[in-house]
Amino acid sequence: MTAVRVPGLPRIEDGRLVSTSPATGVEVGRFPVATPADVRDAVEAARTAGQWWTGLGCTGRRERLLRWRALLAQRIEELAELIHTEGGKPVADAVVEILTAIEHIDWAARNARRVLGPRRVRSRLILAEFTGHLEYQPYGVVGVIGPWNYPVLTPVGSAAYAMAAGNAVVLKPSEYTPTVGQWLVDSLAEVVPEQPVLTALHGLGEVGAQLCRSGVDKVAFTGSPATARKVMAACAESLTPVLLEAGGKDAMIVDTDADLDAAAEACVWGGLTNAGQSCIGIERVYVVEPVFDAFLDRLVERAGRLTVGPHDADLGPITMPGQLDVIRRHIDDALARGGRAVLGGADAVTPPYVRPTVLVDVPEDAAAVREETFGPTLTVSRVRDADEAVARANALPYGLGGAVFGKRRAVAIARRLRSGMASVNSALTFAGMSTLPFGGVGDSGFGRIHGEDGLREFARSKSITRRR
Ligand code: NAP
Repeated sequence: MTAVRVPGLPRIEDGRLVSTSPATGVEVGRFPVATPADVRDAVEAARTAGQWWTGLGCTGRRERLLRWRALLAQRIEELAELIHTEGGKPVADAVVEILTAIEHIDWAARNARRVLGPRRVRSRLILAEFTGHLEYQPYGVVGVIGPWNYPVLTPVGSAAYAMAAGNAVVLKPSEYTPTVGQWLVDSLAEVVPEQPVLTALHGLGEVGAQLCRSGVDKVAFTGSPATARKVMAACAESLTPVLLEAGGKDAMIVDTDADLDAAAEACVWGGLTNAGQSCIGIERVYVVEPVFDAFLDRLVERAGRLTVGPHDADLGPITMPGQLDVIRRHIDDALARGGRAVLGGADAVTPPYVRPTVLVDVPEDAAAVREETFGPTLTVSRVRDADEAVARANALPYGLGGAVFGKRRAVAIARRLRSGMASVNSALTFAGMSTLPFGGVGDSGFGRIHGEDGLREFARSKSITRRR
């Protein structure tokens, strides 16, 4: 009997990982599945490469990384097309993703010396006759494990900073987007042909776990909270340090004095871009009573204009076929518990696509409010005031990002969100600022990528005191 082939579902065939387009089912890439020996060999080769790479110094690494950045810019159309084919993301969104990644490579390369360069410090009261020397040294080999939803930005967000800090990187791309991961590795090899400073290992379900136990010096993981726990448990066996960028269930708060047109526009972008498959996607909206109806009208009108389908549509397919069941379950459960769909709803899921869905009157204990949906759905809830909005936004174990629309109190509200990041009068913008750290609290993980914190995340401080 021939197995049913689900478009987008990766499979192993003759020891090879096969990725397919979630829209058409056409095969996109085929890669040998790494064996435990391959994982060991890759880490060993990366260790040698890392020593050579460290020896280039900040200036040598900066020059190579800027050439990589230029190469990505030159071939942006080719890479965007590949992201689209393998992951389903609309090409225009893929271009934005690559541009953001390019910005991060640029910033990490240019700022590594300033942030991680050696410095002298003095004690003022005691040990005044000593000079302190602070240095940042690379870990050595960093294992980067990534998801499929931003197959360029998420690996680059860790790998570019790790490499700028002097480490070699072994990447385990998501099994859904191995070709994009391999493209990144091959493109770096064009500008750094001497040593495998960035390598990829492919697999489905086991290679990430092996990488955690391979003797790498640090693991930078991006993915779901469930896998983050496994990664941390595996790394605990050898006390390998970890950085965990996990999932989210971000909230947007709309206050009485918000610009409602701007809030609705940002909510559509923040919640529905990439068909809602974003860790920092807005999934819950809390709107204060006096502006609830006016906001909802604007949101539904804008979200209702989005097109769904292949190629140039605003929303592409859901990349992981299994996620369609989660999205359908969340919508059905919300409706069964008294929620109403003011857009989309019960028949919104037509595999591999999901039409934008806006749900109101959904109880706070419904799955659509409590669990990561990872689809183009929004729950919009009426709240008495900003205090209630903050309390409800903060009621979940997740704490990645968030957004606040308003004037007088907006920044104060943003500070009160239990999250690593927040944007005021915009959505998702913190992800694009290479100068700002990115990361969450609680089930959304810990540690920071991007910005100065992101560079320091991939270097160990070394303190040396010297008696004058
Ligand atoms: P996932 O299922 O957790 O997988 C992520 C990666 O982990 C894959 O490469 C996977 O590869 C690997 N993996 C699986 N089991 C592992 C194990 N036991 N040990 C080590 N690695 C293992 O996540 P996903 O479905 O790809 O991505 C969606 C999730 O990522 C969402 O929750 C989203 O919110 C989150 N995300 C977070 C951020 C952020 O920055 N915070 C950004 C993007 C996405 P194999 O299964 O082949 O081993």
